[in-house]
Amino acid sequence: MESAERRINPAAMAIKQVETAAARMPHLDNAILQKIKHTKREIVVHFPVKMDDGSVRIYTGYRIQHDDARGPFKGGLRYHPDVDPDEVRALAMWMTWKAAVVNIPFGGAKGGIQCNPKEMSLRELENMTRRFTWEISPFIGPESDIPAPDVYTNPQVMAWIMDTYSIRKGYSVPGVVTGKPLELGGSLGRYEATGRGVFITALEAAKHLGMPLENARVVIQGAGNVGGIAAKYFRQAGGRVIAISDSRGGLYNPRGLDIDKALDCKNRYQCFIGGETESDEVSNEELLELECDVLVPAALESQITEYNAARLRCRMIVEGANGPTTPEADALLFDRGVFIVPDILANAGGVTVSYFEWVQNLQELLWTEDEIAERLTRILVRSFSEVLAISQKEKTDMRTAALMLGIGRVAEAVKLRGIFP
Ligand code: NAD
Repeated sequence: MESAERRINPAAMAIKQVETAAARMPHLDNAILQKIKHTKREIVVHFPVKMDDGSVRIYTGYRIQHDDARGPFKGGLRYHPDVDPDEVRALAMWMTWKAAVVNIPFGGAKGGIQCNPKEMSLRELENMTRRFTWEISPFIGPESDIPAPDVYTNPQVMAWIMDTYSIRKGYSVPGVVTGKPLELGGSLGRYEATGRGVFITALEAAKHLGMPLENARVVIQGAGNVGGIAAKYFRQAGGRVIAISDSRGGLYNPRGLDIDKALDCKNRYQCFIGGETESDEVSNEELLELECDVLVPAALESQITEYNAARLRCRMIVEGANGPTTPEADALLFDRGVFIVPDILANAGGVTVSYFEWVQNLQELLWTEDEIAERLTRILVRSFSEVLAISQKEKTDMRTAALMLGIGRVAEAVKLRGIFP
């Protein structure tokens, strides 16, 4: 556990990142900078939920909209006991930069409910989701703000949101959320998109470093949608996933894990990785420090900090999670030559295919899986090379370069729209 003094505020971290990038952008107007350092709208709702034992519990939920200069707000919903306003603010801001880095016409938002889904029944989760949706529905919609899955939310949760919002409107509105089940207008390839994007950007980084992914030792923290899917892509490419973990700890086998076996029981909220007899157990802290070629943090924020950065033994880090590396750790790792593909590029496959899903919903058509994969790859490869070019020109790390690209695009949109009135 982190001690109180080591706890890192994600919102402060996000602001610090903006300031680092802005310091290299002499033409960035100060008024615009001040504007984009603030969120635009913060919705907090306290609402009652009927529990299975007949009691009623009050939950607190958030939807924080950072910026919509480039298009409707877009961002996931998280169900976790640690959800708080500063975490949601940071996640919303990262969404804005991410959409701009991959140049899709969305702004950034994020939401969440402070709860422990592992202790709730399916019916309680449904009641909570539907009531939260009802409370925030004046502020969401296909033209205004489009939620998606994040930690401990999934296609079923998106289906409940779509249904509740549609009931309120009086007609079906599939475009109000992305990451839906296919039967309700979900997109082929959306479930795999973030993990696939992690792999695509890792491949670009590996090419840049002259390091083959074949036989590369890969360590993954987090075995959910992002980490679990990324693991499968690395294995398909001949990589060796030597360790993977979830909230309870991880498995380690230097010869490579049987990923399908390890992930077999990993469904819904209650299940944990297991089933691998030849592996050793490692804690999440130990896992980060294993010697490897590629480290993929794919769980929560602030995992790589000034306290453990010096002990990391990887060649590159590909950030499946949002905000896993603190600014202090960034500086230490840059000095040590560890190549980081930052979250706003590495995990942008999710929002990119969410955009494809939204476009398909609005146009009422369906793209094939091949079309989705081809368009996703094209966008991520192009974005990687744009960010790399800035990092080389500016002699800076990939995060600062990505932020310069994203912030620059958002600032330009704000400037063109002007300050009203
Ligand atoms: P998920 O709920 O599918 O999986 C989360 C995984 O992390 C689970 O395996 C869980 O057991 C594990 N976990 C939880 N706490 C942990 C801890 N303290 N240490 C190690 N593992 C822990 O969530 P996800 O969608 O895979 O999201 C993971 C990360 O990726 C988050 O940072 C999220 O914001 C980010 N992300 C997700 C998407 C997406 O499309 N789902 C897109 C971009 C970024």
